[in-house]
Amino acid sequence: MSDNNLDIENIRREWRDRLLILGHHYQSPDVLRHADVIGDSLELARKAAASNAERILFCGVHFMAESADILTTPAQSVYMPEPGAGCPMASMADDTQVEKAWTFLNQQGDAWLPIVYVNSTARIKAFCGRAGGSACTSSNAPKVFQWALDQKKKIFFLPDIHLGINSAHDLGIPDEHTAIYDYQKPNGGLTPEALKNVRVLVWGGYCPIHVNFTVADVQAARASWPEARIIVHPETPKEIVRMVDAHGSTAQIIKYVQAAPAGSTIVIGTESQLVKRLAEEHKGRLTIKMLKGSFCPNMAKTNEQNLVRILRDWPDRNCIRVPSLLIPDARLCLERMLAL
Ligand code: SF4
Repeated sequence: MSDNNLDIENIRREWRDRLLILGHHYQSPDVLRHADVIGDSLELARKAAASNAERILFCGVHFMAESADILTTPAQSVYMPEPGAGCPMASMADDTQVEKAWTFLNQQGDAWLPIVYVNSTARIKAFCGRAGGSACTSSNAPKVFQWALDQKKKIFFLPDIHLGINSAHDLGIPDEHTAIYDYQKPNGGLTPEALKNVRVLVWGGYCPIHVNFTVADVQAARASWPEARIIVHPETPKEIVRMVDAHGSTAQIIKYVQAAPAGSTIVIGTESQLVKRLAEEHKGRLTIKMLKGSFCPNMAKTNEQNLVRILRDWPDRNCIRVPSLLIPDARLCLERMLAL
């Protein structure tokens, strides 16, 4: 056992239940072996909200730790082993641009509701809460979309273009009723006429890890393993999602693998750490292949070295504090999702 491993476990024992370590599925096994809870964004948000721990150590990326801070009390503190671990997709929706887009949409006379993917900053969640909208994760996006549609509202979804388009399609909304808001163009590159038939408008952000997968990768996988079933994450472009056997969030991919008959082959298109771990866990029962290697470098910024460092010293720079002015609206946005 390494020195770091021993130190981490000794410190954890001293803290007992005053400390909760949360680990996202995309973390490395070295980090996850120290986590009290391993989960996707939704499960970890629920655990943070339900916890009484004095300190929550979030092994994931920045927006996840922000959500934990929003959902916990002022007496609790949220830390990250590496606060520089951000999410490029979350950075693609800037609150000033989003407010401008919202003003433009509301000038067109239709009733809109924003839905934000949890992979967004606290500022964007606060905007959404103020505007009556809800957060969603890749596990519950279609359910949250349905909640908005039941209110007879048009959906303004951000920041992930692909999760937005794939979720609308899952609900049977034809592509001609979805449109893209290109945040690099004035008014998203849209005219009032173009918006008339739109039921779901999606911000043009994306996850660099999941847009790596291509039609050619699927064709190559089918040629190499003709008997395999292929599943991808819904942050993957629609052309790929519509040619594979299944798509689902991290939690849904895990369930798909667990339910697969012994002896089968499954090809998975998502972040590579998760695929490697599933292959290891199901070795001998299933053959699990990567659609293509695609690591998230930001998730990889957390490691055993910075985990042990924070547990020893708790430096203030590692404490994630969402400005108190944003918290009530951002909390509303997250709580609407958790209540659905
Ligand atoms: S995998 Fe994609 S969405 Fe998740 S943290 Fe990395 S860049 Fe962001």
